[in-house]
Amino acid sequence: MFIEQSDGEIAGVSLELLGAGRELADKLEVPLSGILLGDGVRKLSSRVIGYGADIVYVIDHPVLKNYRTESYMRGVNFLAGKYKPEIFLYGATPNGKDLASAVATDLSTGLTADTTMLDVDVDKRLLEASRPAFGGNIMATILCKKNRPQMATVRPKVMKALPFDETRQGTIIDEEISLREEEMRTKVIDVVKDITKKANLADAHVIVCGGKGIGDAKGLQLIHELANTIGASVGGTRDVIEAGLLPHELQIGQTGETVTPKIYFAIGVSGAIQHVVGMKNSELIIAINSDPHAPIFEVATYGIVGDAYEIVPKLIEQLKQIRVEQGGEVSYV
Ligand SMILES: Cc1cc2nc3c(=O)[nH]c(=O)nc-3n(C[C@H](O)[C@H](O)[C@H](O)COP(=O)(O)OP(=O)(O)OC[C@H]3O[C@@H](n4cnc5c(N)ncnc54)[C@H](O)[C@@H]3O)c2cc1C
Repeated sequence: MFIEQSDGEIAGVSLELLGAGRELADKLEVPLSGILLGDGVRKLSSRVIGYGADIVYVIDHPVLKNYRTESYMRGVNFLAGKYKPEIFLYGATPNGKDLASAVATDLSTGLTADTTMLDVDVDKRLLEASRPAFGGNIMATILCKKNRPQMATVRPKVMKALPFDETRQGTIIDEEISLREEEMRTKVIDVVKDITKKANLADAHVIVCGGKGIGDAKGLQLIHELANTIGASVGGTRDVIEAGLLPHELQIGQTGETVTPKIYFAIGVSGAIQHVVGMKNSELIIAINSDPHAPIFEVATYGIVGDAYEIVPKLIEQLKQIRVEQGGEVSYV
C-alpha cells in the first residue's frame, strides 16, 4: 500500500490502511508491504512496521520531496513492476486519488475509488472493495477479476489503525530510481497549508449533529447550546446544510466529512445511508428521533424516541448540572 506522508508525518489514513491491510494480508497469508516515497523519509519505516507492515520499500530522493503525480507515479510503477503486488491500496486523499488514478491508467488495471469496506475472497484471491453507489442507495462490491494489481482508494476514518507496537519486526528495502528535476514537467513553487474548520470536525471527540427534524433556527440554537455545554463540535446532515443553517464544511456523510468521535449525538437525523457512512464508526452514538422506526436507531448505541425540541433542553439542563457538580469540566474518558 502507498504510505502517504508530508513533512515527515505519515497521513492518518495510511495508518488506518495498515490496520485494514493487515487483516487482508493475514487472510491471504501474504506479507503486508508499504511503499514510502519522499526525501528523508526512511526514518518513518519503523512506524510503518509498528502499525502493521512486514516490509517497507523506500525510495528516498530529493525529487520526491513534494508530491507530484509524475515523480510519484514513476516510483510506484517501478516498485509495482518489480514486486508485482496482488492488491494495492491508497488513502482517498487528494494526493492518494491523484496517484492511484495515474498508476491505474499506466498499469492498465482497475481502480475502485472511495471504498468504505474491504474484504477478500481467499479462494479466488479477489479484493472485494465496497462503496456506496447509485446515489448512495446501495452498497456495491466491486471486483477486478482480470488485471493486477487490484487497486482501491479508501476513505479516511472508515478503517481502524492498529495500536502502535514498537516491538514489531519487519524488513526495510531501499530502492533507487533515476529521477532528474529537469525531466519533471511540473515544479512545486510553494506549499500552502490549508487551515480550515474541517480539521476540527474530523478530529472532534464529541459531535452534536443536527438533522432536518430539528432543522430550523430554534432547533439549531438548541444544537449549538448542547454542543457548548459539553465542549462538542457541531455538524449537520445534508438537508440542514442545504437549508443554509450550517456551513458546507460541517456536513457529515458520503459527500461531507467522515467522522469517528468518541460520542456522536444524532438529533432529528433519519439515518439515511449517505449520512450513516460518514459517522457509523463513532464509538458511542446517541440518537434522538420522534420516529421509533427511524434507521438511525439501527446504528445507535442509545436511542431516545421523542420530540427533540422537548428532549434537548432537558438534556442541556442535566448536563449543565453535571458540569457544575464536576467543577466546570466534562470528562469523556
Ligand atoms: C448522492 C447523495 C449524497 C448524499 N450525501 C449526503 C451526506 O453527505 N450527508 C447527509 O447527511 N446526507 C446526504 N445525502 C442525503 C441523504 O440521502 C438524506 O436525504 C439526508 O441525510 C437526510 O437528512 P435528515 O436526516 O436531516 O432528514 P430526514 O431524512 O428528513 O430525517 C429527519 C428525521 O427527523 C425526525 N424528526 C422529525 N421531527 C422530529 C422532532 N421534533 N424530534 C425528533 N426527531 C424528529 C424524523 O422522524 C426523521 O427521521 C446524500 C444523498 C445523495 C443522493
